[in-house]
Amino acid sequence: MEPFRRTGGTGPSNGPSRGFRHYRGNRKQRKAQGAQGPQPQKPNQPPQPARQFNAPFKRYDPKQVRLEQARSKSQQGKTEQVKSLIEKAIAKNGKKEITVKEGLRREEGFKPKKGRGRGRLGAPTPPPRTGTYKHKPYLKTGTDSDKLTVSPKQRLKVIVMGGNEEVGRNMTLMEYGDDIILIDMGLMFPDEDMPGVDYIIPNVSYLKGREKNIRGVIITHAHLDHIGGIPHLASMLGNPPIFATDLSCALIKKRQEDHRDKPPLNLHAVKNSDMLQLGVFKIEFFGVAHSIPTAMGLIVNTPCGIIVHTGDFKLDPTPGAQSLQETAKIKELGQRNVLALMIDSTNASHPGHQLHEYEIQHNIDDIIANSQGRVIIGTFSSMIARIQQIILACERQGRKVAVEGFSMKSNVLISQELGYIKVQKGTLIDTKDIHKYPREKVAIICTGAQGEERAVLMRIANREHPIIEIEPGDTVVFSSSVIPGNERSVQRVTDTLYREGANVVHYKMMDVHAGGHAKQDDLLEAHKMIKPKYLIPIEGHYSFLVEHAKAAVRGGFNQNNIFIADNGQVIEFDRHGVGQLTNKKIPTEFVFVDGLGVGDTNHVVLRDRQELAGDGIVVVMAVVSDRTGKLLQLPDLISRGFIYMKEQGELMGQARKKVAEILRDDDPRSGANAVYLKEKIRNDLGEFLFRKTERRPMILPIIVEV
Ligand SMILES: [Zn+2]
Repeated sequence: MEPFRRTGGTGPSNGPSRGFRHYRGNRKQRKAQGAQGPQPQKPNQPPQPARQFNAPFKRYDPKQVRLEQARSKSQQGKTEQVKSLIEKAIAKNGKKEITVKEGLRREEGFKPKKGRGRGRLGAPTPPPRTGTYKHKPYLKTGTDSDKLTVSPKQRLKVIVMGGNEEVGRNMTLMEYGDDIILIDMGLMFPDEDMPGVDYIIPNVSYLKGREKNIRGVIITHAHLDHIGGIPHLASMLGNPPIFATDLSCALIKKRQEDHRDKPPLNLHAVKNSDMLQLGVFKIEFFGVAHSIPTAMGLIVNTPCGIIVHTGDFKLDPTPGAQSLQETAKIKELGQRNVLALMIDSTNASHPGHQLHEYEIQHNIDDIIANSQGRVIIGTFSSMIARIQQIILACERQGRKVAVEGFSMKSNVLISQELGYIKVQKGTLIDTKDIHKYPREKVAIICTGAQGEERAVLMRIANREHPIIEIEPGDTVVFSSSVIPGNERSVQRVTDTLYREGANVVHYKMMDVHAGGHAKQDDLLEAHKMIKPKYLIPIEGHYSFLVEHAKAAVRGGFNQNNIFIADNGQVIEFDRHGVGQLTNKKIPTEFVFVDGLGVGDTNHVVLRDRQELAGDGIVVVMAVVSDRTGKLLQLPDLISRGFIYMKEQGELMGQARKKVAEILRDDDPRSGANAVYLKEKIRNDLGEFLFRKTERRPMILPIIVEV
């Protein structure tokens, strides 16, 4: 769909030859005939003065145009004849450039403005990335020349299905012969330009017909960007066995309860010390430090060598860290001739080392100790390590803790049952009992770190919570690293909290992506410990992956052995340990989850939503005679989100008359051509409304033939 040409009126004007081109038929027909470029202007013709876009549109004779269209349809190919016809028509109208421009606009499809992000001057919002592999990758271009000597059946394929080029929807596929394993099945939250979309999950169309080859799905840890796709994808893939730690299994199961229409999952709990044989793949695990307990990395033994997948991790050997890093196992990998290391790049653009968990604990202790009044802490319900640290800090300060929010409560309960959150007896209190304690002896942990509309923190701030209220002097702690797109709602909730008299403390480590991921120096240390032949940075926007690669090269890694793959780009290895980043690509287009629908919301739907959000909609209802095409009554106009109709009665009256004018039928013998009339209403009324309001609502004509 082409955007409306804003500058169309100010360019050089078009000679009759161009007009001819544009009146030759509709776009499809022209395509079929092979579109020609615009013909050069005749040298003896003086350039026409530029026309201001806002100058009124002059009318042209609709009957004439219709006649011409009909003629051109029946006389395709007879160019000379049509040309003279058009020239005659233009001469008759005596409005050369206007008529031609009109034609051009018609031809190119006059479309209402789309996307609200575009503004009055900006370029149109591009459609969301669909993940086509067009650009040249950094460092190593995917190659068509095949370095591998073995047949494709004997090659190990490693494909990142989601999580590269973005943060979220992590999923990796490994395939050898008839055996496939999958690592993680995450979700990603939508951008602002995807109204109505709940989240985005990986595209599994490559696995269609290969379901029986899937030997298992291994989950590295229970953050949503690693498990969020499971409820939708597992049943689509024939319910393959899913292997995860006990805590991850419990959290996955809890989430599945929201999807009762789906069959129960085929879940299997594993420990770090276990070993799995899934087809040709033998899988071992190693504990990593992350902001959720039991996070682990994978050691995948394949016929072509060992592939190590870190999952989300940071380096933190500190005892007492929430998820224990098995440093000895990681170091031992350095002796095992690792073929490739797939490694977390979420924080790869940050230099230095990530904070250790004891430092984060220290900061949280500080915040709680220095807080006055009641402390309300907004964080994510999956930040189980942080929740534990907050509880510990409160216990040290003699504060009681209330946990508020459904997901928060259930996650704390599950973690407590499994021993991953340890609480002293009497620390946790029911929310309804908070008034029994002095304000400075109470802390509340709740959801809402990102200003989410329905989260508990928002309801407290807006005085919509039945029990918890804010009094001047209370302290509210939440994350300062805001997911792009949430800035405004976070600012709003911050302002509201200030109005209520609260002290607001921002602490970045409350965020999912802060504090749990290795920074550059940690990454280099991990490379040195594991000593892989090939390096595959994963999990992060393209720039993060490149930053990671650049740091690795600075650290002495062989540049030719770093593969920066796009989502879906196939990496292959042979049995001699030779790898290549190929030009092959499997589909990875976004799959949108929207309410109960999975994948049924596409880019066309999104574009319409953007258009509606931009300038609203005008519905035109016209009743015409199906025999004569005659308008039977003055058309009705209904608008939403365009103008306030009650105050714009005059404009709407004019618009109705305009539609009536458009629909005036000069030829009583011919019946109504609804398609033509709709298009005409869309174009002419669109122009009329733009001239009057400088807005471009979506126009939806409904023509009822009786
Ligand atoms: Zn994570």
